[in-house]
Amino acid sequence: MIIVLKSGATDADIAEVCRRIEALGYAPHTIRGELRTVIGAVGDERGKDDLLSLQNLECVEAVQRILQPFKLASREIKGEPTRIRVDGVEIGGPRVVVMAGPCSVESRDQVLEVAAKVKAAGASILRGGAFKPRTSPYAFQGLEEQGLKLLAEAKRETGLPVVTEVMEPEKVAVVAEYADILQIGARNVQNFSLLKRVAETRKPVLLKRGMATSIQEWLLSAEYILAGGNPNVILCERGIRTFETATRFTLDLNAVPVIKKLTHLPVVVDPSHGTGHWEYVEAMARAGVAAGADGLIVEVHPRPAEALSDGPQSLKPERFAELMQQLRRVARAVDRDV
Ligand code: PEP
Ligand code: MN
Repeated sequence: MIIVLKSGATDADIAEVCRRIEALGYAPHTIRGELRTVIGAVGDERGKDDLLSLQNLECVEAVQRILQPFKLASREIKGEPTRIRVDGVEIGGPRVVVMAGPCSVESRDQVLEVAAKVKAAGASILRGGAFKPRTSPYAFQGLEEQGLKLLAEAKRETGLPVVTEVMEPEKVAVVAEYADILQIGARNVQNFSLLKRVAETRKPVLLKRGMATSIQEWLLSAEYILAGGNPNVILCERGIRTFETATRFTLDLNAVPVIKKLTHLPVVVDPSHGTGHWEYVEAMARAGVAAGADGLIVEVHPRPAEALSDGPQSLKPERFAELMQQLRRVARAVDRDV
């Protein structure tokens, strides 16, 4: 249920409504919008309409049922887009935010070189994997904590905030020490214990869509993080499995306008995993911005042929710099900036 408060509602009113929601056995989530405050009351409502009694309070304008299965993520509870601040960077605002860097952190030289180059080209967040979810157990698994330290050094050198993947609940604390944004990979989108654990950190979370999750399932995964008390969720479309084999995955750009309709959360597009081939990355990055994405996440490697993971889909820094120029023009055409 959503409890919509009257425009003059005070902090004491909000506290009182929250107290009553808790007394009825639900969890209150206060969302202060520009025009009005609403309080989401979430919990098991089956067969009950006890929250309707809140309608009698002086400060309450209306009590409404949320129709979507995802509640806190829905547009019904919050009409305005959510903007998430990471250091000085805002995700979900008018500027399209570009995150770029290697698939895996491989060495100090490699990550410092890419970080400096993507920053010079105009990226505002550095990506890089330290814990890698590899299909084969024999493939490079990442530098782990050493990789996190190198990302932190690259951040000190460039000022770029860092997004990096966390794969296990037990590793959330250590990754959160170094990362500005915690990435949940496609393969972990329904790892509910991991989602609950990242919720506890209150750090921004980049939640990738699973390669076989529907948009509704993906938003219910986001709901786990929101219901766990962390409102800072960024969705990432990274391609889904279809019958097509010419590309690694099928980048579902339909998801961008669908997400914009269903939820207030920002959405970014990953044209690197979405295509699997560097030749297609630029076109789909441009398409992502044109479709209304709030950001992009792009793999860049100084020597893709030597990359320990995802070389075939990684752009060289020079091409990435060219892409940034193209994106500026596309963004302008859809009334955004890069
Ligand atoms: C990655 O970002 O390198 C990655 C493994 O992504 P995904 O989880 O989307 O496959
Ligand atoms: Mn990768």
